[in-house]
Amino acid sequence: MTQLPASGPMGLPSCRLCGAPLRIPVLDLGMSPLCESFLTVDQLGEMEPFYPLRLFLCAVCFLVQVETVVAREQIFTKYAYFSSYSTSWVEHARRYAAMIRERLSLGPDDLVVEVASNDGYLLQHFIGRGTPVLGIDPAANVVEAAEAHGVPTLVEFFGRESAERLVSEGKRASLVVANNVLAHVPDPNDFVAGVATLLRPKGTATFEFAHLLHLLNGVEYDTIYHEHFSYLSLATARDVLHAHGLEVYDVEELTTHGGSLRVYAQHSGGPHGVTSEVERLLALEEAQGLRSRERYERFAEDVKESKRSLLDLLIGLRREGKQVVGYGAPGKANTLLNYCGIRTDLLDYTVDRNPYKQGLCTPGTHIPIYAPEMIAETRPDYVVVLPWNLFDEISEQLSYIGKWGGRLITPIPNATIVQLTRPRTRAKPSGVARTGTGRRRRSP
Ligand SMILES: [Zn+2]
Repeated sequence: MTQLPASGPMGLPSCRLCGAPLRIPVLDLGMSPLCESFLTVDQLGEMEPFYPLRLFLCAVCFLVQVETVVAREQIFTKYAYFSSYSTSWVEHARRYAAMIRERLSLGPDDLVVEVASNDGYLLQHFIGRGTPVLGIDPAANVVEAAEAHGVPTLVEFFGRESAERLVSEGKRASLVVANNVLAHVPDPNDFVAGVATLLRPKGTATFEFAHLLHLLNGVEYDTIYHEHFSYLSLATARDVLHAHGLEVYDVEELTTHGGSLRVYAQHSGGPHGVTSEVERLLALEEAQGLRSRERYERFAEDVKESKRSLLDLLIGLRREGKQVVGYGAPGKANTLLNYCGIRTDLLDYTVDRNPYKQGLCTPGTHIPIYAPEMIAETRPDYVVVLPWNLFDEISEQLSYIGKWGGRLITPIPNATIVQLTRPRTRAKPSGVARTGTGRRRRSP
């Protein structure tokens, strides 16, 4: 694995947006393997690379980021994540496609380009509606799946260079879709320059990314991993877009990925007026201290307490002799499992719907991953929902564990046991105890 040298004065990492040296991490999650480097059983006896996982706040441009530890080619060219395995994410994409077709009046003369188009989960909703589409993704294995969906897809990294080539071939986009990619590119300047190049003069680009505000307020520290390079606020996204001649004209708050933003951008001075929502959210971020060190110091303390509460709960249950297993093996679970030191002493196994992960083990912590049917076979007392952002979807899928008194646990922000409604005759969607703020709480 190619390790990149630390850059900047005295080997300090430098800001991926403005180049300033990053002096002090605001959060240190210790050493962690790359979150998608799942292991076969044969690999368990081999040495495993671990890299520092530290969160920095740039004192100059305020970009919150992790340092680059490996080249992007090592991360993204074979990706175990297929968007289509998440039912709610596919539905999110379908609703987006219907909304944006209407809002921008897209027709046969337009072109929709999605960057990081994965297996075609989103562009498939434009097929058959008369608007041409093009996907771009560096992972050849997911692109094969996209082609099978009938979505034409280029296997490459997107940036200024590939945008210039597409334009020279006469391809310019009326809509550029960039979902969960701006925060995952090592060089956001090159990426945004590419979007600005590819976009027609009156075109719109939409960017979705996890909102830094929710990372901090929800103590969602497990969304921090090496491949997630930047943690964006609206203010920082506005600044990077502005640096490349793009202007934010609208923003929406979404519930996806624990709280995301969808930012609408156009060339500066483009046809769309700027909505009041943009100002409102910028003011909210300012009021919440997103550019102050103190806010991050508080966050770091919250993260330590979150770890203590999860370990407290798991250790207590295991001492009582309960069987505790996991549900899901998302990349981000590996930050949580490694940071908390959770191995098979605390979680017997986890399960995942993605067949590519079944039979593998989690990196660093070596927890075996099985098909979901394992839960019905072993009837565990507790199931920890590792992709907690999909809790509602998963608690419906797992409502059957109520038959033997099984319960779910959400690990974030503080470990919480969720009582499922015991199904009487037919399994119904779970009844989840919630407080008025939408937080799940531990049942008595
Ligand atoms: Zn910076």
